[in-house]
Amino acid sequence: MRPEDILVPTPAGVCCKRGGFHIDPTRIVDRALITHAHSDHARAGHGAVLATQETLDMMRLRYGENFAGATQAIRYGESLSLGGVTVTFHPAGHVLGSAQIAVEAHEPSNGPRNGLRIVASGDYKDAPDPTCAPFALVPCDVFITEATFALPVFRHRDAHAEIAKLLRSVALFPERAHLVGAYSLGKAQRVIALLRQAGYAAPIYLHGAMEKITNYYVERGVALGDLRPVRGAGKADLAGTITLCPPSALNDVWTRRFPDPLAAFASGWMRLRARARQQGVALPLLISDHADWDGLTAIIAATGAGEIWVTHGQEDALVHWCATRGLKARPLDIIGYGDEDEADSTASNSEDPA
Ligand SMILES: [Zn+2]
Ligand SMILES: [Zn+2]
Repeated sequence: MRPEDILVPTPAGVCCKRGGFHIDPTRIVDRALITHAHSDHARAGHGAVLATQETLDMMRLRYGENFAGATQAIRYGESLSLGGVTVTFHPAGHVLGSAQIAVEAHEPSNGPRNGLRIVASGDYKDAPDPTCAPFALVPCDVFITEATFALPVFRHRDAHAEIAKLLRSVALFPERAHLVGAYSLGKAQRVIALLRQAGYAAPIYLHGAMEKITNYYVERGVALGDLRPVRGAGKADLAGTITLCPPSALNDVWTRRFPDPLAAFASGWMRLRARARQQGVALPLLISDHADWDGLTAIIAATGAGEIWVTHGQEDALVHWCATRGLKARPLDIIGYGDEDEADSTASNSEDPA
């Protein structure tokens, strides 16, 4: 059996003909299996969606009650037979509810694997994250990987050290308001949780676009401490405080409500100084929800896969690395995936009425 007998890459996403589904399709399909709730992977309008409960809930929060014709929740480790294949969801460590989807041509057995297994990992990271289940390594024959930070220059730092940098700045400038640009699904909640882990107990303020998803994280048991909406807070009250906002809000008139605002941005792209300067970021925080070069290459090797399919990002560099390791590799030309930090839509801003 060839991998293409199970999954076929198409410009709209990988398709499983036997099982009658697409994974993270970028156009509307009858049946979608969705790895996580970021908008480039999770689109509204599919006939049926199979995903983790968290992914389904966050899609509902973003798109409304009727985001799909039908939905079905699946737990991590649970297997489901679809047509001629078995699918199993495993934690991807990217954001709350994020999953890698293993697709197998045979029924799972208790003994050694008996069929061809392809793992579509969606977006993933191996770095610790207090807001979601840790990445699970799933041995497979074909590993489908993202390539957002697939260049050797991308080496993320320890997130705790970046948070310490933020807290030093807050201590140094007690009269200023610190605005931390962070993507509203995942990154923002991780930054808050890291601040709490570092012992920061003061109220943390939220831009309106952050409220729904952040409250959902709290509902699901992620401890984030005292959170308050910026809306309604007086300018003087915001001195010395930390506020989380979408990155695009950093350059918005919205910032005028803060006393002498200082812009920080939590993103893997902050490795590039020019990028930080361009965006007017005074305090770049190198915190990413994607694996860096070392993470990607270590995980690819550890899966034991002999064949690697590479999606969105720096495909060429990763395909080249695979070739030097004797792995068969190909880029998948799927149109429509992006990086959430880059994508930070103005739509999320408009959720803030104030
Ligand atoms: Zn993502
Ligand atoms: Zn992605």
